[in-house]
Amino acid sequence: PRVVRREHPTPAPGDEPLLRVVGGDERVPLVTGGEVRYANLDVAASAPALVWVADHVERVLPLYASVHRGAGYASQVSTAVLEGSRDVVAGFLGARPDDVVVWTRNTTDALAVLAGCVPDGGSVLVLDLEHHANLLPWRTQGHRGVTQRVVEAAATLEGTLAALADALAERPTALLAVTGASNVTGEELPLARLADLAHAAGARLAVDAAQLAPHRAVAMARDGVDWVALSGHKLYAPFGAGALVGRRDWLDAGTPHLAGGGAVEEVGVDDVRWASAPARHEGGTPNVLGAAALAAACEALSALDDGALEAHEAALRERLVRGLAGVPGVRVVRTLDGAASSIGVVTFAVEGVEPGLVAAVLSAEHGVGVRDGRFCAHPLLARLGLPGGAVRASVGVGSRAEDVDRLVAALHRLVEDGP
Ligand code: PLP
Repeated sequence: PRVVRREHPTPAPGDEPLLRVVGGDERVPLVTGGEVRYANLDVAASAPALVWVADHVERVLPLYASVHRGAGYASQVSTAVLEGSRDVVAGFLGARPDDVVVWTRNTTDALAVLAGCVPDGGSVLVLDLEHHANLLPWRTQGHRGVTQRVVEAAATLEGTLAALADALAERPTALLAVTGASNVTGEELPLARLADLAHAAGARLAVDAAQLAPHRAVAMARDGVDWVALSGHKLYAPFGAGALVGRRDWLDAGTPHLAGGGAVEEVGVDDVRWASAPARHEGGTPNVLGAAALAAACEALSALDDGALEAHEAALRERLVRGLAGVPGVRVVRTLDGAASSIGVVTFAVEGVEPGLVAAVLSAEHGVGVRDGRFCAHPLLARLGLPGGAVRASVGVGSRAEDVDRLVAALHRLVEDGP
């Protein structure tokens, strides 16, 4: 990471990429003729891998072998990489020494692991601003008596915390599962306060950190967060690896997530003794390269100077919000008012123009990549009065001011000239 910093000095926060990403200077064709550098403002969906991560994967790749049961040298190295990467991810999240790191495919998979570990008959509380990954897995556990309650986020952060406190007081709750930062509005939730609320009511706290972890330091032990779920592909690593990190007790007792080789202690013809976590949930050959990539991304982000990431993204976010505010007919979406701080995710609607058309014009005529639709958060979009969806722009370590300026200029053209 020191090398990354030396290679990429930052003149002013947001002007240049903070870290180099693979394909950051890629050029794309325009329907109007010619080509332009791709302005990727869709990093909240999947962030391009860091060059640092790609270099690390290249170093690990030659010693490619199946882990744990192989005695050969490459097997030993792969095993060490897989196991050592757990420690890196745990450190990145500020986990407790006895927390477990379960490798998963992504956040959806990680929350599904945890859903299978909620004690029988437990009640799970979520907010209505959640991504479907944190809305749906709990509902699959009805056969074990697990139930879910959905609390409507209020118009203010304090109102939302009060609504959660009421719901926790109303009925014994096993788990409060919340997003760390919304993938629609970018707003952050105060994890330490949520942990206090949950614990005071005898509940545990799980955080969907898919959006939070790429933007803010997570401090599980300090804040009292019991579990964190995250995705490598949103954290500047390639697709295919994620993690569930947290308390061992539920994970040791819960339903094995992927029954099969590696997840067991002993198998008979009619019976099985399951392994404890993490192996219990990791049946089958693991994604060693994915784990290595995820750990490398954690290392690169951890090595940034204190506050550099926040300053970079805040500069770009402010530029984006200011720019959008100047475009007639553009409305930026928020749920928790000004009380919550926000990561680099901004969702907006353009009056009279379908979100899909806005996104298509931005891409085809301006080389700007954004996302449109309902962002896997249907209940929230409906409540925001946007049942037909909206447009989302998001920035990260590879983004630069010019990307934001191009988006804003393109929207001015769109609104003035029509699509
Ligand atoms: N949670 C949030 C807040 C997200 O933004 C996403 C992805 O968009 C997810 C969960 C699901 O992540 P994945 O698709 O990597 O499982």
